Amino acid sequence: MRQNKMILPTLREVPKEAEITSHRLMLRAGLIRQLASGIYTYLPLGYRVLKKVERIVREEMERAGAQELLFSALQPAELWHQTGRWDDYGPELVRLKDRHDRDFVLGPTHEEVITTLVKQEISSYKKLPVNLFQIQTKYRDERRPRFGVMRAREFVMKDAYSFHTSWDDLDVTYKTMYTAYSNIFSRLGLFFRPVEANAGAIGGEGENHEFMAMAAVGEDTIAVCSHCDYAANLEKAEAADVPAAGLEPTADAPAFEKLHTPGTKTIDQLVAALGLEASVFLKTLVYLADGQPVVAVVRGDHDVNEAKLKDLIGATALEMANDTTIERTLGAPVGFIGPVGLKGVQIIVDKAAAGVASGVTGANESDYHLQNVVVGRDFTPDKVADIRNVVEGDKCPNCGDGALEFHRGIECGHIFKLGTKYSSKIGATYLDENQKSQDIIMGCYGIGISRCLAAVIEQNNDEGGIIWPISVAPFHVHVIPVNAKDEEQTAIAENLYRRLQAQGVDVLIDDRDERPGVKFKDSDLIGIPLRVTVGKRAGEGIVEFKVRKTGETTEVAIEQAYEEIT
Ligand code: ATP
Ligand code: MG
Ligand code: MG
Ligand code: MG
Repeated sequence: MRQNKMILPTLREVPKEAEITSHRLMLRAGLIRQLASGIYTYLPLGYRVLKKVERIVREEMERAGAQELLFSALQPAELWHQTGRWDDYGPELVRLKDRHDRDFVLGPTHEEVITTLVKQEISSYKKLPVNLFQIQTKYRDERRPRFGVMRAREFVMKDAYSFHTSWDDLDVTYKTMYTAYSNIFSRLGLFFRPVEANAGAIGGEGENHEFMAMAAVGEDTIAVCSHCDYAANLEKAEAADVPAAGLEPTADAPAFEKLHTPGTKTIDQLVAALGLEASVFLKTLVYLADGQPVVAVVRGDHDVNEAKLKDLIGATALEMANDTTIERTLGAPVGFIGPVGLKGVQIIVDKAAAGVASGVTGANESDYHLQNVVVGRDFTPDKVADIRNVVEGDKCPNCGDGALEFHRGIECGHIFKLGTKYSSKIGATYLDENQKSQDIIMGCYGIGISRCLAAVIEQNNDEGGIIWPISVAPFHVHVIPVNAKDEEQTAIAENLYRRLQAQGVDVLIDDRDERPGVKFKDSDLIGIPLRVTVGKRAGEGIVEFKVRKTGETTEVAIEQAYEEIT
């Protein structure tokens, strides 16, 4: 492809709205542009990468025996009524009406649709098992879309669903898919970990695993054992009932009692004590006890009287933080509460902000702090997805020897054993060998194709820009004639470009009349693995190779360059 004509708008400036590296680089390298919050256009360069990710996923799905099909994004509400998810899914579900006033949803996932299809088309055990997948646009009205395509409202997902006559049979496919997922993420050049997870809104009776790309900006916290191969999303480690440590307020935190004595202060009272306007959005306080400096992180606007607040809660430090910072500190969306990773974190939440039912155990007051709560015992994880009682250093629930270390990860894939959760509600049954009707047992398997793209960049970049792994690079080779006015250079570069293209190499030529500095900077930014610079020595038949990843340069004869690439 020719850069001169390509819509490849690179930016020197760092876009203000982008908080994390991958988002910044996707904007700067001209991969995406935002249309509305959480809604993006993929420009030609970005779309090439998206298609390469898709191709890898498709190949591995087919290798795992799954068949591709394509559903509609638009789904009739009746299906969602049947499974109860019309009510259960909440505001993330995009609902709309047609001209006849009939309800529809834009699919956030396709369990209802596929189970209905299988109900209609499969009736005998002889047709099972079957594994079907699609690569499709999904819609979720995320509470806070952010980080570019990482958490978008419209995004591309590969979703697969398998159908079985027994749990043992599901187990076989589950293992095959687990392997396929490992292959996919390896081929994408991701450093990842499969972790045990909780099921979330999709639910199901059986085990499930998330595939986490490790990255500091990841929204999930993963507990990893120092000794065995145990790795779990913290929600899961929590449910495993790890003995809690460090959550009690300690003697050197007297101010804690002051604030937390039952009945003394509600958020409203605190707001009043601080002389704040009712409109002030003071919703979360985090309090570090356990011998650490007492720090409070407060979500609020900047009118909060910081000195007064500090005094009131006895904090040695007070950090006014925006939602994102707090979310990052907590490792959970604000309102979902998450004393995570920080030893002895106490947290106070406004229950309205948290969306938590009142009377959560450990809270002195209806909208009060949570302390030593145990998932399963004190609340159901689907109400409060992210309360954690596990702290770093706790004993591993698997081997009992190692200590848990915490890492951050980006959830790129998620596989579930659903059992009969959907088939029983939709009525997807089959006749077994004895002509007896049975509910079909299901598994489901998702990969965030577009999120993977961001995760790859998050893990593969430097100051100069993106460093694409060859497997998903938009182009493999970047040919750069240094001086567009030099006819000899141009001719040599053009010739090399055409020959490489004829050989099926993905090659981009920078045929713009730009200064060399601009060309090289852009080239680093868009991160094509191999650059071939056609410069001063081109006349002698010599060009320069530069490997984007290592920065290593070598001079090679043109013929040799051609040979090596093809
Ligand atoms: P998250 O916990 O990040 O909200 P999820 O658990 O809700 O994700 P799943 O229902 O498991 O997501 O969907 C399968 C995959 O789709 C996820 O593993 C993730 O890679 C991707 N995905 C989910 N939500 C989004 C989103 N808003 N934007 C981009 N990709 C997403
Ligand atoms: Mg989600
Ligand atoms: Mg999740
Ligand atoms: Mg998930």
